[in-house]
Amino acid sequence: MTIETTAELTGFAKLGISGQLLKATHGAGFTEPKPIQEQAIPAQLEGRDILGIAQTGSGKTAAFALPILSRIIALGTKRRPKTARALILAPTRELAVQIEDTIKLLAKGAHVSTALVLGGVSRFSQVKKIGPGVDVLVATPGRLTDLVREGDLNLADTKWLVLDEGDRMLDMGFINDVKRIAKATAPDRQTALFSATMPDEIADLAKGLLKNPVRVEVAPQSTAAAEIVQGVVFARTKQKRQVLSKMLADEKMRSVIVFARTKHGADRVVRDLERDGFNAAVIHGNKSQNARQKALNEFRAGSVRILVATDIAARGIDVPGISHVVNFDLPDEAESYVHRIGRTGRNGQDGVAVTLVDPSENAKLRQVERIIRTKLPVIADHLDSPDPQPAPHQPRTDGDFQPANDRNGPREARQHEGGKPNNGFGKKKRFGGKPAGTRSFGDKPFAGKPNGERKPEGAKPFKGNNKRRFGGKRPAARAA
Ligand code: AMP
Repeated sequence: MTIETTAELTGFAKLGISGQLLKATHGAGFTEPKPIQEQAIPAQLEGRDILGIAQTGSGKTAAFALPILSRIIALGTKRRPKTARALILAPTRELAVQIEDTIKLLAKGAHVSTALVLGGVSRFSQVKKIGPGVDVLVATPGRLTDLVREGDLNLADTKWLVLDEGDRMLDMGFINDVKRIAKATAPDRQTALFSATMPDEIADLAKGLLKNPVRVEVAPQSTAAAEIVQGVVFARTKQKRQVLSKMLADEKMRSVIVFARTKHGADRVVRDLERDGFNAAVIHGNKSQNARQKALNEFRAGSVRILVATDIAARGIDVPGISHVVNFDLPDEAESYVHRIGRTGRNGQDGVAVTLVDPSENAKLRQVERIIRTKLPVIADHLDSPDPQPAPHQPRTDGDFQPANDRNGPREARQHEGGKPNNGFGKKKRFGGKPAGTRSFGDKPFAGKPNGERKPEGAKPFKGNNKRRFGGKRPAARAA
């Protein structure tokens, strides 16, 4: 290629993507590369390892997939049985499905084979699919480990390894699986590690797996161009159901994700919504893969307006046009708040994030505000209103949806998604400071009380047992 022609190239072609891959990339609607793609694609085409600090929504999937596809296409179709040329590890099944979908789209017409290896679905069809060998395998670590252990998959030919959402892998207890898997791949492989945050364990993992990596970093999607209007509604736990139903009666809430802290909590929210006449889908770690995918598809297609989810869905899920995020309760880890609200305000559209806060959650609210470096204004305060009387047909033997400091509720109800005990709210390091593009209700004329007046009169101080809730070791449990 001459210097003149290179100079004339634009977009993905200028980054080194060509032929059928370029055609399919344009066909997927990707004409202008996103910043992460501009940074990561040329470096990977040169064979460099990548340490990417970016989250879903940044365009990282194409950033790591296009260079791999480009190299694989050049290799031709010869593969050894039970091998994978490239392996992409994702922490959740939903994310893995999404990655494979994107890869199929980008590789359209290019004779590249892909396969998915996930827990929760038939193992047989996965083994069959990888039998002749595949070009790109997208997997969650648990099932992949099983297949390797049982000799159904050999990673010795795997020359490209991508670890997506490294911090989430860590949270879900996958880190040792990931290390074992990486060890089984080709020693001269090229590796990319993406993570939204960089806790010490991930920095150590990167040191161990990456060779002289190029570091690429983009602002979290939730903080990008789009504006997310944020605010809190003070409501006692017993009032939250009624408050939520009232909010959802507003037709402006076109497409809503309601986040609950626990799987039990999510189920309860769905039950209550259904009793109040709403149709809602639910997605959490106890649901089968099929049920999760079905819920997501219905929500994506718009046939269900409300999706209730645990934090397992806070990252990785890319559903365009979500108008509102409602935090039924605050997450145990303040960082999850940023990921949750990032489900709205995507692709330049505005979004609204409302958080229902019981007085027992004030400490968590402060942690969130520290992380986003913003005082969230109060949109409404129901603390002086009486608790709703439970309807006679709804016996509640276990109290209402349990608040953060509940110490008497069922054990599972207090557990995090993935069985992870709370190991230090907000202790993780995080890149970037205040989400640049976020905006609070305070910036709008309909702002609630000024921040200084926010503390509700008579709010009860947090009396929970901090030791019990905030201690504990990182478990080896996995949720996907
Ligand atoms: P990701 O972070 O890879 O999940 O991508 C987030 C969203 O951006 C997805 O909906 C992609 O389809 C979309 N996307 C990624 N790259 C581009 C691009 N260059 N142009 C337009 N859309 C893109």
